[in-house]
Amino acid sequence: MKKTITLVSILIFSVSHYAFSQDESDSKLLKQFHAIQSEEMMTWMQKLCSPEFNGRLAGTPEFIASAEWVAGKLKEWGIKPGGDNGTYFQWFNFPYTVVNDIGSLTLNLIQSDGTVIKKNYTYPEEYYPGMNSGSGEITAEVVFVGYGVTAPELNYDDYKGIDVKGKIVLMNRDVPYTDPGNPEYKKWVKYCYHQYKLENAVKHGAAGMLYIDGALANPNISYDPSIIVCGIGPQPLADIFAGLKTTNKDILAKITKTFKPASFTTGKNFTIRANTTRHPEGKACNVIGVIEGNDPVLKNEVIIIGGHLDAVGKAGKVVNGALDNGSGVIDIMGAAKAMALSGIGLKRSVMFLFIGGEEGGLVGSTTYTERPLFPKDKTITYINLDMVGNGTGLSVSAGSPYKDLLNYFVQADNQYIHRTIQTSAPVPGTFYGRPRSDGVVFSMAGYRTMDIGTTGSVKKVYYHLPGDDPDGLTIDIMEDVSKMVYVALTNMANDIELRL
Ligand SMILES: [Zn+2]
Repeated sequence: MKKTITLVSILIFSVSHYAFSQDESDSKLLKQFHAIQSEEMMTWMQKLCSPEFNGRLAGTPEFIASAEWVAGKLKEWGIKPGGDNGTYFQWFNFPYTVVNDIGSLTLNLIQSDGTVIKKNYTYPEEYYPGMNSGSGEITAEVVFVGYGVTAPELNYDDYKGIDVKGKIVLMNRDVPYTDPGNPEYKKWVKYCYHQYKLENAVKHGAAGMLYIDGALANPNISYDPSIIVCGIGPQPLADIFAGLKTTNKDILAKITKTFKPASFTTGKNFTIRANTTRHPEGKACNVIGVIEGNDPVLKNEVIIIGGHLDAVGKAGKVVNGALDNGSGVIDIMGAAKAMALSGIGLKRSVMFLFIGGEEGGLVGSTTYTERPLFPKDKTITYINLDMVGNGTGLSVSAGSPYKDLLNYFVQADNQYIHRTIQTSAPVPGTFYGRPRSDGVVFSMAGYRTMDIGTTGSVKKVYYHLPGDDPDGLTIDIMEDVSKMVYVALTNMANDIELRL
């Protein structure tokens, strides 16, 4: 009898003790939950988009200053450094190009009497200076080269039988094979890269390159001093095709159907001028902060949340990269601060990874997967945030074998936030295309990767264009993304049922 009483009292004691500590940790959780506030997030965003950081082009001193600023915040909150030699920074080589002015793009209409009528295009609507262009000026005839691809093993060559030496080549993005969901696409992947296309143009002796890409800022292309590059929008393209009785669209439709190149000399003469400075010595970095777990075993496991800190810099007008990807950075910072200050204690380790060099070819994420801080098999998941700051609803996706991880986010939303939340579980292994996000880099390296986004975009998006500013954000959704991440990651880090 006595024994029973003791047992019961122990049970009562432990239940009430459990209830007490549960309440205590709930109130700790909620205290920092409410401390995540859009006002503070907006001040961080203004800082990230200030002239001091000049569009955060990876490699530039201004990008490095932005990395130092983020590291300073992590330090202020007591988050430990996870970079090289006890610092917050994981460095890698990153040659870059500074575009000194907007350059120019001109159509030269040569009249029958030999005089020339010039048509100048407007920046940034009609053209965008090539962000890795050689410096100088080229005036030459424009030769259309389809996709700019030479693939002998696929029996396809856009340059076959056509002379582009000293000419300006005009080409499209991507490749003739258009279904990245089909395994056949794999054979074409190496030809989709902008880098490859520029190198192939140089190999064929082209002196200029017009890239049909909607005239966007894009540092993700190779550099070669011998070629002057410019991105173009619909107007110059229409002028090139004027009087030719066909359009770029029609030709592409034919090529993708027949896999037969349709290159030709357009008879149009253009001048491209570029003013750039190359920095081959450039270096960039990831910023890494870690909250170490407090469980002797589980602390060796890590949950990583990341997003790219770099943006596309300044070529003329600065592109501040508020949505792309100041939003992801600030969402993560909000959650990081709350997790660091909550006092709840995390059993597993949590890493905050601010990636550099995404816009220049996913270099920072590739670097991390090659030089990881925690072994891949001890990494619960990598969660990517890119352009998460414009909308009214939340979205989370994860690969189907680990779709259970979605529940932490759904629960956080159901319990505390109450936004609509869309979840999806993409089937892994069906992506054969060119990786276009840090998440895909992690996924292809074998990490269980998740993606957080927003739905129901409400503001105009200035993708890789001047105008990507803080006032184009819906800051209240950013506050809620931060809150969701904070709650979900805290629970994920402390869930002893969760298995690798
Ligand atoms: Zn981005």
